[in-house]
Amino acid sequence: MSRKNQGKIILIVEDNQYNMKLAVDLLELAGFVVLKAVNGQAALNVLVDKTPHLILLDLRLPDMDGVETFKKLKENKNLEATKIVAFTASAMKYEEAEIKKMGFDAFIIKPIDTVNFVNCIETIIHQKGKGNGGSC
Ligand code: MN
Repeated sequence: MSRKNQGKIILIVEDNQYNMKLAVDLLELAGFVVLKAVNGQAALNVLVDKTPHLILLDLRLPDMDGVETFKKLKENKNLEATKIVAFTASAMKYEEAEIKKMGFDAFIIKPIDTVNFVNCIETIIHQKGKGNGGSC
């Protein structure tokens, strides 16, 4: 297990049980501390007393959607150093442009690519400064 990820905290916001379990399993195996939220409000509740290094945010959520949740995250001063990654099933061109414009650090396409997923997260979480909103 890679030691460089030890103590790095990732919050996964995802309402699909299968995607959540796969992401949690892969990231825990890689040594990350993983927090979970199944909707936007649950994510905000977690963030009351936790400050993750990275948030993986599903854009399609049952209550407030990922875009709405993202806006609330950007208002939270505790999260200034937190990387926020869009987790999206659709890679439509307009959506990519939207994701960049909004200020996400990166996006990851579902279904999860089990070979590259952890590498993507490691690259983003260990990089200095903000990401450019590009695909991982
Ligand atoms: Mn969803």
